[in-house]
Amino acid sequence: MGILIWLVLLIGTLLTLAYRRTELRTATIVLAALLVAYLLVGDGGFLWKTLLIALFVLLALLNLESVRRDNVTRRLFGIYRRMLPSMSKTEQEALEAGNIWWDGELFTGMPDWRRLKNLPPPTLTAEERAFLDGPTQELCRLIDDWEITHELADMPPNVWEFIKANKFFAMIIPREYGGLGFSPLANSMVLAKLSSRSAVVSSTVGVPNSLGPAELLLHYGTEEQKQHWLPRLASGEEVPCFALTSPRVGSDATALVDHGIVCRGSWQGQETLGIRLNWDKRYITLAPVATVLGLAFKLYDPEHLIGEVDDYGITAALIPTSLPGIEIGRRHLPVGVPFLNGPTRGRDVFVPLDAIIGGTKMAGLGWRMLVQQLAVGRSIVLPSNALGGAQAALYATGAYAKLRRQFNLPIGKFHGVGEAIARMAGSVYTMMAASRVTCTAITNGEKPAVPSAILKYHNTEMSRQVASDAMDVHGGKGIMLGPKNYLARGYEGVPIAITVEGANILTRNLIIFGQGAIRCHPFVRAEMDAARNPDREAGLVEFDRLLFKHLGYGFSNAARSLVMALTLARFTDVPVAGPTRRYYQHVNRYSASFALITDAAMFTLGGELKRRELLSARLGDILSYLYLASMVLKHYQDQGEPAEDLPLVEWSCRTLLYKTQEQFHGLLRNFPNRWVAAILRFFIFPRGRTYSSPSDELGQRIVELMINPTPTRERLAADIYKVAEPGNQLGLLQQAMEIAEQVKPLERRVFDARRAGEIKADDIPSQIDEAEKKGILTPAEADAVRAFDRRMLEVTGVDDFDPSELRRTGA
Ligand SMILES: Cc1cc2nc3c(=O)[nH]c(=O)nc-3n(C[C@H](O)[C@H](O)[C@H](O)COP(=O)(O)OP(=O)(O)OC[C@H]3O[C@@H](n4cnc5c(N)ncnc54)[C@H](O)[C@@H]3O)c2cc1C
Repeated sequence: MGILIWLVLLIGTLLTLAYRRTELRTATIVLAALLVAYLLVGDGGFLWKTLLIALFVLLALLNLESVRRDNVTRRLFGIYRRMLPSMSKTEQEALEAGNIWWDGELFTGMPDWRRLKNLPPPTLTAEERAFLDGPTQELCRLIDDWEITHELADMPPNVWEFIKANKFFAMIIPREYGGLGFSPLANSMVLAKLSSRSAVVSSTVGVPNSLGPAELLLHYGTEEQKQHWLPRLASGEEVPCFALTSPRVGSDATALVDHGIVCRGSWQGQETLGIRLNWDKRYITLAPVATVLGLAFKLYDPEHLIGEVDDYGITAALIPTSLPGIEIGRRHLPVGVPFLNGPTRGRDVFVPLDAIIGGTKMAGLGWRMLVQQLAVGRSIVLPSNALGGAQAALYATGAYAKLRRQFNLPIGKFHGVGEAIARMAGSVYTMMAASRVTCTAITNGEKPAVPSAILKYHNTEMSRQVASDAMDVHGGKGIMLGPKNYLARGYEGVPIAITVEGANILTRNLIIFGQGAIRCHPFVRAEMDAARNPDREAGLVEFDRLLFKHLGYGFSNAARSLVMALTLARFTDVPVAGPTRRYYQHVNRYSASFALITDAAMFTLGGELKRRELLSARLGDILSYLYLASMVLKHYQDQGEPAEDLPLVEWSCRTLLYKTQEQFHGLLRNFPNRWVAAILRFFIFPRGRTYSSPSDELGQRIVELMINPTPTRERLAADIYKVAEPGNQLGLLQQAMEIAEQVKPLERRVFDARRAGEIKADDIPSQIDEAEKKGILTPAEADAVRAFDRRMLEVTGVDDFDPSELRRTGA
């Protein structure tokens, strides 16, 4: 056989072995067989054959652990230990928060789809469903968002009462302490429903069910603290808030300067060992009405009254707000969504040591407590609030685009408007998929820290886009404030969700990949631990094992990326057939490329990657898009694969995978080492950038699903508040849209008659009169068209005010 054929055979064998992640031992045996075959029947001189044998012997020696350890790994181990970036205690704690789930699979370059497929579909218990359809529905009915946002800048007393009496603040508190003991999924669905009605109410309810006193007590509190506080929090007797942020310290929360000194003081008339606290906090939700303040501060013990340590670090304590020295009650005014939020200051406030959550043994562990709880909590409150608001905006916009006519056509029929509606629908589908599937995973015991950050960032960013698109489609109707405006407050309040629980720029640039890379990578964390092992020899043995697996994994990802790019991923194994199969395959392809480029970036940039925020952000985007596309596929499966929803699945997956491709391109263009970038481009884009974004025609199909009363439209609005009743514009819009369908043939008759010159009038009411007079419409038909026209004007109308109604007296 000619040398070329042997070469092809060798490359093919190497690619196959790497693609299939064959063990080193098995790969060596296969290559030995190939070598023997070549030596027996192949051409080539003595020198060439000797060189091949020598190379093979080197490979075979790598199978002998002690030989490779002493000759290869030991030296690399030394270099690695010197290069290892230092990690602060807070970074370490952030990395230890939560666990790894589907995010880890995407990092392997070979996701095991069974793990996702086997997750049960989202299900509520009978009580949770009853709460969603009962008290939550009733609370939505009670809400008048105009009264809340414009007249009171607060919820009225009956709404506050209803919330407390029905334990909305106690969804996460277990039943044994008097709470509702709901799952994360139920918590998320209740918040989304409230958010479809009022962002003030959903934010107010969200906070006590998120990171705060109850959550911290549940996980770290002493039994005594739990018994004291949790039943009071559950009944609404106590209102909590959690204070971390201060005037000088926002995103870099660990730099806080609020402090507590361990000392003796007087507590309830007795000398007690306690803490003297001083703080100045701002932006604290519920602070103006809080009766108990969860406080984050730095604890110092200069006199060593509780131990040998001077500086304990960040500590969390529960402080009753009635204590002397506490200033609380003033309010900030969050833009568009005036929920209760304000500053609080404390001067020489004395509390006993058992105010520390978990008691003295938890002194200094406050940051760990916070990041561990945020690891999960971040995927619930803000992503659910963002989802509910976006669902409502889409539901309203679809109906509005059918009812509102310009140039004799419903505006939804114009392709430019349609583009915005399709984008809204695709985004809501993606947000819903991410929220439902991730909350179900958490309900089933996962604590996925990186997906939490992905959801926080992407759901809130998508809701920003949805809010913007909704406003554009509504034109002036979205701009004029008043009781009839169902969009503007959500639009105004978008930056709130963007900013809290890790502002989005920081979350994208620093957290998603920054935490994901070390956390989710199958080897990096373990290699670092091995390198830090104080028993150097034991560390070396472990490092050697990991290193060679890691190298095999790197080769495999390069091979998988190249082969799938060349074949457009047509032959990669996925556990589904049918119309979604190709999206699973593309996720496989990009997962391999992502694993490859992650290794290359970490290897060539090391600790520098942390400072190259834009590279880190793009890597985070790729991970996020692959995660979201997987959620879309799983959600479609969970919903029973309704064929009518396929355009949404296609739009979402295409958009996410196209953005994935473009972020790879951006990453390669900006990769600092140009040689490495060129090699990576060969393995990732050997055929160039071949993936395309959704077509215009697909967008138009989605528009038809949104501007007509379809099951797909209803599924996208599942469990939001859309009852048709006075004061709920969402329900009234839907009702008018359904009537529009019924009167369409009648309107068509009038239109045709006007075109034929039978009807002369210009304005609609006169046209209807004329049609009735000329027998084009029966009197009953004419009445139906008239009634619809009035209704259409009503739901597309805006408010106006006497100037005196708009004057704020400040009284
Ligand atoms: C309505 C509302 C409610 C809140 N509720 C509470 C509460 O109940 N309790 C509480 O303790 N706090 C609360 N906060 C505070 C909130 O968590 C902070 O606003 C947030 O952490 C950001 O801090 P900052 O506003 O000071 O912005 P800054 O930290 O000043 O950040 C400004 C910008 O810089 C970016 N940035 C900062 N560092 C980096 C970096 N390294 N890389 C890239 N970008 C970076 C941020 O992303 C942001 O875009 C609330 C805030 C708001 C607005």
